[in-house]
Amino acid sequence: MDKKIIVALDGYSSSGKSTMARALARKVGYVYVDSGAMYRAVTLYAIRNGLVNPDATIKTSELIKALPSIHISFAPAGADGVQHTLLNGEDVESQIRDMKVSSLVSPVAVIPEVRERLTALQQEFGKEKGIVMDGRDIGTTVFPHAELKVFVCTNAEERARRRYKELLGKGIEVSYDEVLANVLERDHIDSTREVSPLRKADDAIELDNGTMTPEEQMEWLLKRFQETVAK
Ligand code: C5P
Repeated sequence: MDKKIIVALDGYSSSGKSTMARALARKVGYVYVDSGAMYRAVTLYAIRNGLVNPDATIKTSELIKALPSIHISFAPAGADGVQHTLLNGEDVESQIRDMKVSSLVSPVAVIPEVRERLTALQQEFGKEKGIVMDGRDIGTTVFPHAELKVFVCTNAEERARRRYKELLGKGIEVSYDEVLANVLERDHIDSTREVSPLRKADDAIELDNGTMTPEEQMEWLLKRFQETVAK
């Protein structure tokens, strides 16, 4: 039997990492974990439980105290082919994608205790290998020994355009400018935070997918995967 590896895909917001990661996992029969969804679920919990200040900042110490009561899991992909995120057993897949969550998730992801808890959970998911995980710090902090690391970079305008189309497709009302501002703000917070900032791992392969179709990206990633497994 082929050896099982860990595939870590990191990069900026809305760079198409999740689509690629999910497609690869399906193709090779691996587990797929969207680590961003986990940060989003914690953020949704904070919003629902009044742990957000009127100025839209986070009530950090209260959120840290609440962490033991936040349970995140995933339901296997259904007919739509998309794995759903569960927050304390409730399917919150659509709620975690809205703009309110998107605008608060990076400040939540700065909190070291939140990162520590989610990192431990992510490492648990990868214990048996055979996993594709996407995020910001997967190749640097969560799985520094991942056999295949990819860092996806695309310019912000292209990423915002893709995200805008995706949100409109889901019937979420939003303007392009709002989406671009959110993408830029998350990039900034994610790359300047103190704990596990977004950066390319030294041994990650860089991919600029700005002009590639989803099929071309998938083909590229599958090739890297096959090369790594054959090593
Ligand atoms: O991937 P996605 O855009 O859904 O991630 C939402 C946010 O979660 C990111 O902007 C980032 O602030 C945070 N995140 C993180 N570390 C990860 C994955 C996501 O800090 N591994």
